[in-house]
Amino acid sequence: MIEILKPTDLPRAREAGALVADILQAMRSRAAVGTNLLEIDAWTRSMIVDAGAVSCYVDYEPSFGRGPFGHYICTSVNDAVLHGRPRDYSLADGDLLTLDLAVSLDGVVADSAISFVVGEARDPDDLALIDATERALEAGIAVAGPGAKIGDLSHAIGTVLDDAGYQVSTEFGGHGVGSTMHQDPHIPNKGRAGRGYKLRPGLLLALEPWVMADTDRLLTDDDGWTLRSVTGCRTAHSEHTVAITDDGAEILTLPTR
Ligand code: MG
Ligand code: MG
Repeated sequence: MIEILKPTDLPRAREAGALVADILQAMRSRAAVGTNLLEIDAWTRSMIVDAGAVSCYVDYEPSFGRGPFGHYICTSVNDAVLHGRPRDYSLADGDLLTLDLAVSLDGVVADSAISFVVGEARDPDDLALIDATERALEAGIAVAGPGAKIGDLSHAIGTVLDDAGYQVSTEFGGHGVGSTMHQDPHIPNKGRAGRGYKLRPGLLLALEPWVMADTDRLLTDDDGWTLRSVTGCRTAHSEHTVAITDDGAEILTLPTR
């Protein structure tokens, strides 16, 4: 199903996006050496509740996970790249952490993810991974607008990741967003320009390039959720929710503070 928001829905989408972005930034500032992933989950839960929002994750039970997720934020560390289920782990200096969050506020969902190094970033390869996903996200957003096709976004994202020297998986790409978290159209992280669904104003899209340093193959952790690189290499993931407007794409998940 593809949902198209009415122009009068856009203010609600902006509020949902700002909430997600502000929670992610708050968690980024609290994610210090020694911080436990379960603390990050608990802080996220309280910020969602205080805002009157609803978690998209806690009861989420898709085909690719084992049972309800049971937590409020994804915390993926080092070789974990997607769907990292919070666990009893205290962050170490130099850990590469990805936080991914989706909430519903007043009936509209926003979804965003950030990757960063905890403590001191010593490894330039880690920063290159993060930089590639951020640049790929920017490139995808730059070509998003009315009349563009999904393949244009996929091509723009995939070209940046490929040029940076990474193998690109077409599993778990971007997606439509609306009254629920995962909707059509699917947005693979590589593809051919000019192909696929044509974007129009009112569409909300989550774009989310992710990469692993030396492989494109995933394995599922024993927790039934967390997806890791098969080689144990480091990983990164960047995601924004954007609204297609009459003249381009508006990023909804930028921090406001
Ligand atoms: Mg997400
Ligand atoms: Mg998403």
